[in-house]
Amino acid sequence: MQDKLLFFPPSLPDESLISRVSRYHLISGNRTEQSTFGELCSRVRLNLGSVVPAYIEVLAARLPGDADANLAKILQDNTLLPAFRPFLGRRNTPLPSASETDVNAKITHFPRHVVGMVGNAKLCISCVFEDEQIHGVGYWHRSHQMPGVTVCWKHKELLISSCQNCRFPFLRPQKLLSVPWGACPVCSIHLEKKKQDEATNPLEIAYGLFAQELLAENIPPYHPEILMNAYREKIRQRGYSRGSMPALQDFQASMIDELGCEFISKVDPAFSMKRASWWLRLSVKSRLIVDPFMIPVLFPDVAQMQKAEAKAPVTMRFRELD
Ligand SMILES: [Zn+2]
Ligand SMILES: [Zn+2]
Repeated sequence: MQDKLLFFPPSLPDESLISRVSRYHLISGNRTEQSTFGELCSRVRLNLGSVVPAYIEVLAARLPGDADANLAKILQDNTLLPAFRPFLGRRNTPLPSASETDVNAKITHFPRHVVGMVGNAKLCISCVFEDEQIHGVGYWHRSHQMPGVTVCWKHKELLISSCQNCRFPFLRPQKLLSVPWGACPVCSIHLEKKKQDEATNPLEIAYGLFAQELLAENIPPYHPEILMNAYREKIRQRGYSRGSMPALQDFQASMIDELGCEFISKVDPAFSMKRASWWLRLSVKSRLIVDPFMIPVLFPDVAQMQKAEAKAPVTMRFRELD
């Protein structure tokens, strides 16, 4: 068994795991990412850009204190899992509590990827500047990393995902982040702390805020049947029904009309890929993944969503795992 780590940077509010690991890498003075991955997870390769990164249970066991408690805390504070947890209920199985799900469920069952979404790391420059003032260091916010989020919920400014000078992407496979602490590894230019343009699309702003609220809430898993029935009911309530069945195709057409192709494509790349075919599907499968996009249209805030519970949002999009 490996020794416990002597140090790992404490989490800052809403900090993503790759941000903490990148800060560890800088402080450790390790020359290569491989050394850092080896110290933290006994791996030479590590993908920290996914919804729930693999091998974080190894890292959790290496931190001081109880491994299960560490793992639960990392999952809750530093990964995107809390936004996906409501949709991870399984058919015909009792629903565990939120903490039981995280610690006792096999970690391999957690979602790793959102279909069609290319991994990138997104940064709000105003947040970096503000965090340096408040916390003494800038960092990567987890809420900005939600699939489809393009705007900082706090500053309403557009997020950037590549070097302002050479456009080299911040996130590269098997690498850690060097910005905002150091220079771009390609052009050696440091982050320029100038405000980005403000978002003009209210849907993108609402979606960014929703993602932040969804992550901050500790919503337990729902049974998939309950969610599915709730979606069907909501669709019927909005007037899209044929007899007792929801008229999905008509509903889909109205959603596209209401939200616009540009917005939907931004938050859901699968929409672009399958634009001509059947896009919105409602079915209960044994393995589901959801990207919670477009919800703000029907559910202005998370509190309302929780209150609705069994009448949950209709526009949640379910897709099977890859
Ligand atoms: Zn910001
Ligand atoms: Zn650059």
